[in-house]
Amino acid sequence: MKPRSFDYVRVKSLAEAVIALARHGADAKIIAGGQSLVPLLNMRMAAPALLVDIGALAELKGISFAGGWLRIGALVCQAEAERSAEIAQHAPLLALALPHIGHVAIRNRGTIGGSIALADPAAELPACLLALGGEVEIEGAKGARTVAADDFFKDLYETALGPGDVLTAIRIPAAAKNMRVGFGELARRRGDFAMAGLAASRDGTGARLVFFGVGSTPVRAKAAEAALAKGAIEEAVAALDRDLDPTDDIHSIGAVKRHLAKTLLRRVAAELFN
Ligand code: FAD
Repeated sequence: MKPRSFDYVRVKSLAEAVIALARHGADAKIIAGGQSLVPLLNMRMAAPALLVDIGALAELKGISFAGGWLRIGALVCQAEAERSAEIAQHAPLLALALPHIGHVAIRNRGTIGGSIALADPAAELPACLLALGGEVEIEGAKGARTVAADDFFKDLYETALGPGDVLTAIRIPAAAKNMRVGFGELARRRGDFAMAGLAASRDGTGARLVFFGVGSTPVRAKAAEAALAKGAIEEAVAALDRDLDPTDDIHSIGAVKRHLAKTLLRRVAAELFN
């Protein structure tokens, strides 16, 4: 299929992007790497009147570390993030997760910001951001704001971003020396979206277990986290019956997802306690 016709603007500054988005409201859509949006346009599941191309905005690029926080610009592509020494050092959970996103060709174009903004419930990066207690930087018509990952993912493909907002970067607190991380996902074929996945971190204050592909958003398993804080792995596995209520989707049926989530927790818990 072909997309509906649309206007296109490649903006030269963040201010220009915010003005264009504010002027057109819900009729405008940002395009970054296009790896999710272009298929949606072609299938006519999205039909914006205007595409705002942010690809030239230097202020949305780059990876930096300062004041104990790793900052990853929204336009950093997933392949660049995968090769980043800063990410490997300060956010090793991301380094574990990135190679699971699609294939190299997709990661060469797909951006960190696009993945977080889209918030596909089966995507790796939203779950990692939540497991690491990260934050999202947003620029909109009313200025800049920062939203904690805990408050960012609202519902299916629904986030704290409003129609005129640009996600400018994500921020992740540097991994403490005693932090352990673990990641696992089960997909039908390598590169497919996960039937179920788990991104996890553990430090002196406890564990954060975030499942993906098992709900309408990334899901924190808080009852399992409490059990894991006592080192009780099988109790944590049993607690997933309270934490998760996966429904059927195109990747698998709910009962299988629940079983896979339990298997993943046993595997990932071994990484968290080694
Ligand atoms: P785009 O497609 O350009 O945009 C996606 C959405 O985000 C749009 O609604 C757009 O308006 C919005 N958006 C983009 N950037 C911003 C911003 N800075 N501020 C506000 N809104 C913004 N993803 C996975 O996580 N795991 C996978 O296993 C996986 N497999 C894939 C397999 C295939 C075959 C394909 C085609 C894609 C796959 N993806 C997967 C999706 C891929 O990771 C996308 O790159 C990503 O989801 C979106 O990033 P993008 O830069 O391409 O965004």
